[in-house]
Amino acid sequence: MNMRLDVVTIFPEYLEPLRHALLGKAIERNILSVGVHNLRDWAPGVHQAVDDSPYGGGPGMVMKPQVWGPALDDIAAAGMDGLGGQSLDSAVPHLDNVRHDQKLGLAEESSYAGAVGAVDESDKPLLIVPTPAGEPFTQQMAQEFSHEGHIVFACGRYEGIDQRVVDDAANRYRVREVSIGDYVLIGGEVAVLVIAEAVVRLIPGVLGNRKSHEEDSFSDGLLEGPSYTKPRIWRGLEVPEVLLSGNHALVDRWRRDQALKRTAERRPDLLETVNLTDRDREALEH
Ligand code: SAM
Repeated sequence: MNMRLDVVTIFPEYLEPLRHALLGKAIERNILSVGVHNLRDWAPGVHQAVDDSPYGGGPGMVMKPQVWGPALDDIAAAGMDGLGGQSLDSAVPHLDNVRHDQKLGLAEESSYAGAVGAVDESDKPLLIVPTPAGEPFTQQMAQEFSHEGHIVFACGRYEGIDQRVVDDAANRYRVREVSIGDYVLIGGEVAVLVIAEAVVRLIPGVLGNRKSHEEDSFSDGLLEGPSYTKPRIWRGLEVPEVLLSGNHALVDRWRRDQALKRTAERRPDLLETVNLTDRDREALEH
């Protein structure tokens, strides 16, 4: 297995798409294993509340540290093997009704702090906390994360998670707070799907053709240009002649020019970090 993903959420069903398409195939081929965990399994009491009113007042609710803390402790302690009974095998339902505090005998206020012992920084799993206040997610980060062995995602809801959870998690995890864009979602689940999909497709063996991600937008700092398939003429619109020429050097040059032009039109900011050749500059001037 190349990578283990664990997701903690109050809506496990939101993560269902992780079982499908390429990610589902990666699970079946034992490249990836995924555990989806219901945060409420760690919430004590009849109501299993996971949120409380914010200190200092204000609207909305904040997710409770005494629920998140043990959840993240248990998942870190289980490591790449995962917590029993929670694996998201492609064909197996990933929800069960057994609470983790019952399974593991944790009391409401119990804390694992320090129980894992001193851990080498590089051995710690990566904890990704989606938040609009995080560092912007990029293809470069997806590349970086694709080399990880164990990634844990903490999905916030309401006004987010008590900050002490993130601060304390640094004892057991390498923590990254990550934003998928300058807008506010209702919860972190969709952000996790975005990040997981971008990361997993970069693991060797997940995509059939390695070249397909090497040539994607952002891989060389540019947006990818337009793509075409059959038929050659559709509704009176023709495929650019050069693509039918069979001349690979010409096709490559045309693709590079299209990528440069599209990037200049749509995302000129990206060009600032690209190493342009004289030929590239010429293409941009025309
Ligand atoms: N009060 C928070 C703020 O203004 O920064 C917004 C909380 S939002 C309603 C609830 C949860 O959605 C967050 O804890 C986070 O998990 C997720 N979320 C919302 N927007 C996001 C974004 N742009 N990127 C990543 N996660 C996001």
